[in-house]
Amino acid sequence: MSLLVQKFGGTSVGSVERIKAVAEKVAGFHRDGHDVVVVVSAMSGETNRLIGLAQQIQEQADPREYDVLVSTGEQVTIALLCMAFKAIGCDARSYTGGQVCILTDDKHTKARIQEIDDSRIRADLSAGRVVVVAGFQGNDADGNITTLGRGGSDTSAVAIAAALKADECQIYTDVDGVYTTDPRLVEDARRLERITFEEMLEMASQGSKVLQIRAVEFAGKYKVPLRVLSSFEDGPGTLISLEDDNQMEKPVVSGIAFNRDEAKITLKGVPDRPGSASNILGLVAGANIEVDVIVQNVGHEGSSDFSFTVHRNDLKSAMDLLLSARENLGVAEVICDDGIAKIALVGVGMRSHAGVAALMFKALGDEGINIHMISTSEIKITVIIDEKYLELAVRSVHAAFEMEKEPEEQVS
Ligand code: ADP
Ligand code: ASP
Ligand code: MG
Repeated sequence: MSLLVQKFGGTSVGSVERIKAVAEKVAGFHRDGHDVVVVVSAMSGETNRLIGLAQQIQEQADPREYDVLVSTGEQVTIALLCMAFKAIGCDARSYTGGQVCILTDDKHTKARIQEIDDSRIRADLSAGRVVVVAGFQGNDADGNITTLGRGGSDTSAVAIAAALKADECQIYTDVDGVYTTDPRLVEDARRLERITFEEMLEMASQGSKVLQIRAVEFAGKYKVPLRVLSSFEDGPGTLISLEDDNQMEKPVVSGIAFNRDEAKITLKGVPDRPGSASNILGLVAGANIEVDVIVQNVGHEGSSDFSFTVHRNDLKSAMDLLLSARENLGVAEVICDDGIAKIALVGVGMRSHAGVAALMFKALGDEGINIHMISTSEIKITVIIDEKYLELAVRSVHAAFEMEKEPEEQVS
């Protein structure tokens, strides 16, 4: 019999009825003889509600207190779920992250897990109990409560699975697997049987919120077998696998990720000399602001335009910083645009195929969609476009690559 870590997201525990259904589902695995550790999120909407409360008091909440506040959402779920287990005669125990020694660094609101002492969990499993752990949280070395960033319960689950060397980490959610793109945007998106860690990592980092990026990183690093499944219906879900052993059936592209979370900053009239880009980005990095797509257009007359994207939440701080440093940087003008969106086409098959970018750009061009920025890697092509064209762009690229069809039926 196997050791399973099963994670249930916000929608899956969104009401008392759903919590009872989760208890029934997990108890079934337990009755079949599996050892089960359950990791849960806050009930849907709860984390946003808590953040809303904080914002009514402080525009930028104090990070330590933010973590104390938002971690309560998961604590409610673990207790209710354990009550639901007991009500159906299944022995279970709930624990906060700190209680099962999930040690993180001290970077409040985006802490990273460093270590997990699995002894308490193992003792309960040996005693025949289901163990229920609050996702999204841990403690730093001084015992302060920390949280792992939005969507962080996925990472808690994978980290616990790695620590316990679980047979599989199962992420139960409100879709029945990973699709070629968000099925809420493209109706004929197709569920993938499997996707490699490498591709999943690109999908997550380019905006596919079905799995938190760090969860995928962790699973790849510690070789945790990871599967995304539906909480509400039975099915095979999607396996995130180390290598694709079935290369024959591998399509050129696997998926399209997108996000609306970024904004573009452009510096005009940047001196065209060594060190300019480093001065600009050094300033931004110094304020702990992450930069994503970067483009430089060298003009004539010794100056260039330099554009990059940042998270929309960081736009104001980045603009304040750059505007006050404008003269020192020798830059003529600093402007920004928060009406943009990012689309990324991902697939390990791109490595061995030419013409992928051309087909993607043709699909966008045929719809009259202008591309503002382009960035590529071996397995990904990212473009920045106007946000108002996002849906149309994703649909037309999806159709151009016939992603709705099974790989063997695709022409490209
Ligand atoms: P949970 O609350 O269970 O963690 P999330 O909302 O974080 O669930 O993630 C599931 C959602 O991810 C789906 O409802 C879907 O809209 C979205 N999503 C985005 N991209 C994809 C994709 N490629 N495949 C499946 N779901 C996706
Ligand atoms: N409750 C947290 C959030 O909403 C963590 C999670 O759901 O994974 O971001
Ligand atoms: Mg999630």
